[in-house]
Amino acid sequence: MNTDTFPVVVGTCLDAEAIWFNKIGENEHRPVMLSNGAYAIREGLDPLLDLFDRHGVRSTFFIPGVTADRYPDAVRQIGDRDHELASHTYSHMSAVGTTREAEKNDLVAGIDALEKITGERPSTWRSASWEFTENTLDLLIEAGISVSANYHDTSRPYRHERDGKPLPIVELPVQWHLADAPYFLYDGALPGRMPRSAATAYEVWSEEFIGSYEDRPGSFYHQTLHVQLIGHPGRLRMLDRFLTMIKEHERARFYTCAELAATID
Ligand SMILES: [Zn+2]
Repeated sequence: MNTDTFPVVVGTCLDAEAIWFNKIGENEHRPVMLSNGAYAIREGLDPLLDLFDRHGVRSTFFIPGVTADRYPDAVRQIGDRDHELASHTYSHMSAVGTTREAEKNDLVAGIDALEKITGERPSTWRSASWEFTENTLDLLIEAGISVSANYHDTSRPYRHERDGKPLPIVELPVQWHLADAPYFLYDGALPGRMPRSAATAYEVWSEEFIGSYEDRPGSFYHQTLHVQLIGHPGRLRMLDRFLTMIKEHERARFYTCAELAATID
């Protein structure tokens, strides 16, 4: 990786309703709960895409197959605006506790759903809630996925290995505190997790960005967003300030996941 630049990756999940389908079994029959997800499509996506354009950010959008099937026009719009389209399972369910066969079927169906719309197979993949089973890595390689954005073990991109031999898949590690969900995801019930102020997220993200930029050579900054959470007016203003702050750092460069992974040996 070129250490003259400091890579910044913005990964954006377009979960829409999928994030709520499986949190509680009954959500499928709770239209108001699901309307939290519809907000991503109806209100959140357009201003977020405009904000990315203004800052010259090409994001990697992680889209569950079920969301791609429901909103193919949104998938096309994101691709047409030059962002990377990445797979995010079909069902947005954790594969933990399921069979290898069930996990494989869901993973492949998620990739197929995007290919059906765009004609291209995605190279980047994220699980639901960053959960893996002992089979996931092998299933990803079998499915032709070459970039994973899931592990939390380093602040640097790396190639997965087994028995000292490199595998054909690069990891771009993520961190929960650099996602919007811990601050903004509300589970719809009291007592429950309450939304935090956008200023809290800005404070944590900017401290980590500046610390990584100044103190940790060879690292990168990996932001995780969800359209249905970040796409509200006040939070978008915070994101605007955050991207402006990043651009004031002269070595900072925005990469998609696929672009950054291509720089890793
Ligand atoms: Zn998701």
